[in-house]
Amino acid sequence: MLNRAHCLSSSPDIFAEECDNLRGIFLKLRYPEKLINSTITRFIESRNQQQVGDVQRNAPVRIILPFKDQRSADIVRRQLSDLGKKINSDIRPVFTSKKIADDIRVAAAKPPLRNQQCVVYEFKCDLCDADYVGYTRRHLFQRIVEHKHSAIGKHLRDSHNQENKDLTEQFTILKKCRGKCECLIYEMLFIQEKKPKLNTQSDSIKAKLFST
Ligand SMILES: [Zn+2]
Repeated sequence: MLNRAHCLSSSPDIFAEECDNLRGIFLKLRYPEKLINSTITRFIESRNQQQVGDVQRNAPVRIILPFKDQRSADIVRRQLSDLGKKINSDIRPVFTSKKIADDIRVAAAKPPLRNQQCVVYEFKCDLCDADYVGYTRRHLFQRIVEHKHSAIGKHLRDSHNQENKDLTEQFTILKKCRGKCECLIYEMLFIQEKKPKLNTQSDSIKAKLFST
C-alpha cells in the first residue's frame, strides 16, 4: 500500500499526506503505532537509497588523471573499476594529455642540431657503447660528414660493417660555446668526465690548439 501511495503521489507532500491517511487507517485497525511508524520509515529509507543508487549509476564518478601511456591507462582503468565494484559505484578515469601542438612548438623553437656552430658535441654509437667527444667552430653537419673518415667512420666500418650512413641522429650537443677557447676547455672537461672510447691521443688539447 505504501508503494502504491508512493507511485500515485506526484509530490512528497501528497505522499506524506497519504502516509498519514494510511497510518490513521491502520491505527483504526488496531495495528501497533510503533509498527506502523517503523514500516513507513523503513519504506521511505529504502526509496531514498534506491534514488541515491540510481543517481550514482547514471552519473559515474570521473577522476581526471594525466595520460602517460596506453598500458598505464589500461591498468588505472581496471583498478578504478575494481574499486568501484567494491564501493558500489561507477568510477571512470578521464585522461588528459598535452596538446600535440605544444610539443611541435617546442621542437620548432630549437634550431636544428646540424646548423649549430661552435659547439662541443658527442657521438654515441647506436649499435654499441662506443662514443666520441669533439668540438667544431663550423656548422656541426660539416663536421659530421668529415667523421665518416675519422675514428667514428672507422669504428662503424670495422665493428658494424656500416658505410655511408647518415650519422646525424647519433650526435648530440653537449655545450654551446662562445669561442675556440671555451670549446677546448669544455671538450677537455667532457673527455675527462665521459672517457669516450673512440677519442685517441691525436685528439689531445695540444694538437687541437694549432688546428682550426
Ligand atoms: Zn658501435
